Amino acid sequence: MSLAIVHTRAQVGVQAPAVRVECHLSNGLPAFNIVGMPETTVRESKDRVRSALLNSHFEFPQRRITINLAPAELPKEGARYDLAIAIGILAASKQIPGKLLEHSEFIGELALNGELRAVRGAIAAALACQAAHRTLICSHDNSPELGLCCNGANGLAKSLLEVCAHLYEREKLPRAPERKLAQLNGGLELADVIGQHSAKRALEIAAAGAHNLLMFGPPGTGKSMLASRLPSLLPPLMQEQALELASIHSVANTIGQKSVVVSLNRPFRQPHHSASAPALVGGGSQPRPGEISLAHHGVLFLDELPEFKRSVLEHLREPMESGEICISRASAQVNFPARFQLVAAMNPCPCGHYGDGGQRCSCTPTRILNYKDKISGPLLDRIDLQVQVEKVALSKLRENNSTGDTSAEVQQRVRQSRDLQHRRQSCSNAELSGDKLREYCKLGESEHQLLARAMDKLGLSARAYDRCLRVARSIADLKQETQISAGDLSEALGYRNFDRFYARLG
Ligand SMILES: [Zn+2]
Repeated sequence: MSLAIVHTRAQVGVQAPAVRVECHLSNGLPAFNIVGMPETTVRESKDRVRSALLNSHFEFPQRRITINLAPAELPKEGARYDLAIAIGILAASKQIPGKLLEHSEFIGELALNGELRAVRGAIAAALACQAAHRTLICSHDNSPELGLCCNGANGLAKSLLEVCAHLYEREKLPRAPERKLAQLNGGLELADVIGQHSAKRALEIAAAGAHNLLMFGPPGTGKSMLASRLPSLLPPLMQEQALELASIHSVANTIGQKSVVVSLNRPFRQPHHSASAPALVGGGSQPRPGEISLAHHGVLFLDELPEFKRSVLEHLREPMESGEICISRASAQVNFPARFQLVAAMNPCPCGHYGDGGQRCSCTPTRILNYKDKISGPLLDRIDLQVQVEKVALSKLRENNSTGDTSAEVQQRVRQSRDLQHRRQSCSNAELSGDKLREYCKLGESEHQLLARAMDKLGLSARAYDRCLRVARSIADLKQETQISAGDLSEALGYRNFDRFYARLG
């Protein structure tokens, strides 16, 4: 029989659906046709496979070769099918035995000399391959990723020849050395930030309830310093969460980079305000995850929020609601997970000194309001906590060197509070809405009246009402209290002063 079937995997978002490479050799004029892939990809693949076979001293069959990649409707981009196609041709032309093909999957790009190159998204492929009870055979260069998953059910090869030696059962391919994800020390310490007790308190509440946070205040008050401490207040990732994050990095092809260390530490991503929409939320012709997905289960910090393009920020609304981003392409729809906690920081006005008692602000009211309005209402609506970060006077810095709790102490309270939320409602307080919100944030009569009066006086919307409830819930949870008290509500109302801060400008 001159038909061979080889298993491989496509890559769609962070999924790796199965693909069958069917290779048929028939008599007739020599030809080499590949169906089931886009035309340009086919052309390139053909040339690489032919050269790799010849340079590995195999014979390229002078027959009519038809390759079909099924299912046809699956988008198939990139060079990841080279190895499977080459193995298919070799098996169909009886140059290698077909015995092991049924129990293996092959992924890899071939160089013209027959070397095997790494592909993106190897973790997703390895996990799916393991679920199908097959051994994944891929490039040696994918070793760091494969070591993280699958207990080593894989074979790493440097070239097409090594893969063939393995199929002849002459030489077994080595497995990726197993790597355990661990927690790394040397995170940033909250106690290193001097003063700023109210901002630190807001950070703790944000950590406890997974609330989004906006900090505004003059430059040099330590907003970035505070934001960068948030990951140290969050409990470490669980193994499966860390693996999910590693899988996203593996698709983004960032795992080899020195700056990227996949561990149990929460990610902290800080894209620059000049970032484009694809860089922030993901995209490209072969969609790759953006910063929001690399911040999955961690913190996305947007410094100088008004400097981001408004059109770019608008893209954040969907993932902030659903925890994933959907990228539509003509060929397919791709989803990337993106459950991040947003911390945003901004100066109060273009010059940075509005509302700052000491220095005088040189901006006109119109300029200040325009600056503030760069942040759209719907985005602001998704931020539960707004906190003003004020300058700490130098004299105060000298006399008051109390630094407050350490990251570890705060993390302990955050962890207890998160456990409590999970037992009660199986989601974080930030995710409470509708009926769930009413059920778990029940107020006593006097507390209800207090909140109603405050809403009237401050002119807050129904949405602001919900946000106050959620934040008050987190404040009560930090004390392990079942009932929300008047004190909790007052504190929560204090984290809604962004609009009030600008109110006197009209
Ligand atoms: Zn100003």
